[in-house]
Amino acid sequence: MEIEFSRRLKKLPPYLFVEIDKKKKSAIEKGIDIISLGVGDPDLPTPKHIIDAMKIAVEKPKHHQYPFGAGLIEFRKAVADWYRNRFNMNLNPQNEIHSLIGSKEGIGHIHLAYVNPGDIVLVPEPGYPVYNCGTIFSDGTPHFLPLTEKNNFLPDLEKIPEKVAKKSKILFINYPNNPTSATATLEFYERVVKFAQKYNVIVCSDLAYSEIYFDGKKPPSFLQVKGAKDVGVEFHSLSKTYNMTGWRLGWACGNKDIIAGLSKVKDNYDSGVFGAVQEAGVVALTSSQNCVEKMRKIYQNRRDIFTDELNKIGWSVKKPEATFYVWTKVPKGYTSADTVGKLLDEAGIICTPGNGLGPSGEGYVRFALTVSETRLKQAVEKISKIKW
Ligand SMILES: *Cc1c(COP(=O)(O)O)cnc(C)c1O
Repeated sequence: MEIEFSRRLKKLPPYLFVEIDKKKKSAIEKGIDIISLGVGDPDLPTPKHIIDAMKIAVEKPKHHQYPFGAGLIEFRKAVADWYRNRFNMNLNPQNEIHSLIGSKEGIGHIHLAYVNPGDIVLVPEPGYPVYNCGTIFSDGTPHFLPLTEKNNFLPDLEKIPEKVAKKSKILFINYPNNPTSATATLEFYERVVKFAQKYNVIVCSDLAYSEIYFDGKKPPSFLQVKGAKDVGVEFHSLSKTYNMTGWRLGWACGNKDIIAGLSKVKDNYDSGVFGAVQEAGVVALTSSQNCVEKMRKIYQNRRDIFTDELNKIGWSVKKPEATFYVWTKVPKGYTSADTVGKLLDEAGIICTPGNGLGPSGEGYVRFALTVSETRLKQAVEKISKIKW
């Protein structure tokens, strides 16, 4: 029998991190000491009180059956309280919050609720690949919004042609941003709301990095802006805040009708988040947030060491205000791919080529600060030996 992938599957770009992982494995086989600053996956463990809560929850027979639906009401209430404390805004746990099997799952599925074949989805680039993959899976058409240094890595909504804006169903935004580490202001979010109202576009704000901020500068939520809840939803996750990427727990919140569409898709695809994981999530969100403060300090120290050391050896690297990414221009005369190749071959450093996350990322690389200070110092030491 001849097995043929669907057109949809063939249209997908190769998943970047699978490619990077292959290169990493082959370098390890050659006996090279690899320092991996590639994938954005926290190296720190999940805080102990959350693990302890999980151990208790996993024993409860009520969690051994299908969880179904929007999630435990206790979890949704915990999310609402967390939003109130952090962003001073109200969400109704009954219909404005929906649990997700990690936010990637919701970000990838929402298109199926709102995008018809040929509809346009506004996708920032460079960016998290899932915004585009979801568009392809729903037979939508991506219209890419370049994020450039000149615009502080914010999309220029004025530049979107009228014809495109009118056919657009969804606009994705993501601040603090992966990969550029840029942050957004409430003033930017106000412009987004105006755009969405004018063109009847659903806004999907990806807030995964809201708690990884430095120097006390707390990033805002899109939903804080007047009118935002009429036009959009926000995706959030425990993954980065509590080092829980493996647990798969996130949520969507905001406009209840938009949530209802996502819920309908999910009811037909999955059966919810493991109840015990949700119960541990309640403990994470409602306990003391000291563990988050500690984590921020660790990332901030890493950021300072890595950027200061790189600048000492002649790079010109800005300190990010948020996220655990350092997004920086490559040496003059090199492409992103050249630079990634040289860093791997000559220094054993894995990083992400900027153009792998979108054409406007050409000329940049992304380093993830997900290794210890000692390893980061070693990394710069190794980079300093490269002849450019
Ligand atoms: C890590 C990350 C997420 C979170 O993914 P989960 O599925 O919740 O683990 C979402 N958006 C971006 C941009 C990310 O980098």
